[in-house]
Amino acid sequence: MASDALSRPSVGGAAKRKRRTMDGNFTIGRFGGVEVRLHWSLIAVFALIVWSLADGVLPSQNPGLSDGTYFGAAIVASLLFLASILLHELGHSWVARREGIEVDSITLWLFGGVAEFKDRFASAGAEFRVALAGPLVSIGLGVLFVLIALAGLPSAVDGAAAWLGYINLILAAFNLLPASPLDGGRVLHAALWRAKGDYAWATRVASEIGQGFGYLFIALGLVMFIFQGSFSGAWLAFIGWYLLQGAKAEARYVATEQALGGLRVRDLMVPQPLTVDADSTIGRFMDDVAASHRFTTYPVLDGGRPVGLLAFASVAAVPRSEWDARRVRDTMAPLDDVPLLTEDQRAVDALVELSAPNANRGLVVDDGHLAGLLSITDLARALEVGRSPAQARG
Ligand SMILES: [Zn+2]
Repeated sequence: MASDALSRPSVGGAAKRKRRTMDGNFTIGRFGGVEVRLHWSLIAVFALIVWSLADGVLPSQNPGLSDGTYFGAAIVASLLFLASILLHELGHSWVARREGIEVDSITLWLFGGVAEFKDRFASAGAEFRVALAGPLVSIGLGVLFVLIALAGLPSAVDGAAAWLGYINLILAAFNLLPASPLDGGRVLHAALWRAKGDYAWATRVASEIGQGFGYLFIALGLVMFIFQGSFSGAWLAFIGWYLLQGAKAEARYVATEQALGGLRVRDLMVPQPLTVDADSTIGRFMDDVAASHRFTTYPVLDGGRPVGLLAFASVAAVPRSEWDARRVRDTMAPLDDVPLLTEDQRAVDALVELSAPNANRGLVVDDGHLAGLLSITDLARALEVGRSPAQARG
């Protein structure tokens, strides 16, 4: 799950034009055009899996082998497990592509993978097929490893293969729980959406069921942990917490979408904002512009074209002695670092872009010309207005 306050549900898509790297992720490569990233939590999990395989699972399945053999088999099995999770996620993304949905990235982390798509699904059928693809891959891998385990190979191999078969089948079963944001929750969402033809209602119901599972897992986990001293209990409670957060984020996104209704960027932006010239000096800007207007941000133009955003805060950081030598161009945030919006864009999608760290404000550009300025505050105000009637009713 993304860490922003408001993020698009991971299946359902993040429409971010410029991706800002999520904290704690690093890219390991591209597979078939999809960026694959690892979250740091996976390193800890990897070590834990190697240890539990080498120290417990493999020696009890195949007694009498050397420590080195167990350790080597444990590392190979753990790598194959990571590859299995990656294949599960690639299963989602391959089917998504066939449905015409671009896949942004895949992030592997503590509980498996998260595939981020760029758009929302066109139909309930498409969502259903994409959601089911991952667990089908896991079931296929599970069966394959079980068959390898039964094939009568050397004992260090069959123990690891048996574990890989078992863990892939567990992964499929867990992901098929009808608990949004798990794959089974998506399947449920697609079924509800198909049944009533109401996307927002389907999301609310799926989210509530997902939250129910979250609370159940937390309660069960705590009982196991407190009364049986079982470490799996802590694990289960943690998974429950993750489900709860994910399910809530989805309900929040849909609520925001509804509160902003059919609003577009043009309805909320400040049209024709006060601009400054890129070649103007900071001293000139202070005398001509800042002395009479106190805005927090000014779009910067060069020959009539927008080239960046000048924040008053970054001007204030320039020492007074440099004011006459320093140009606006050298003090502004260049276009690459500024979210670019279009007048016709949906307000909810603009909110997703402006919710990214350090984004806050975006330039509304139409045909290369500046049309307006939109800040997250403008959107927050619109949200307040959109939400208040519902809150008054309780
Ligand atoms: Zn999945």
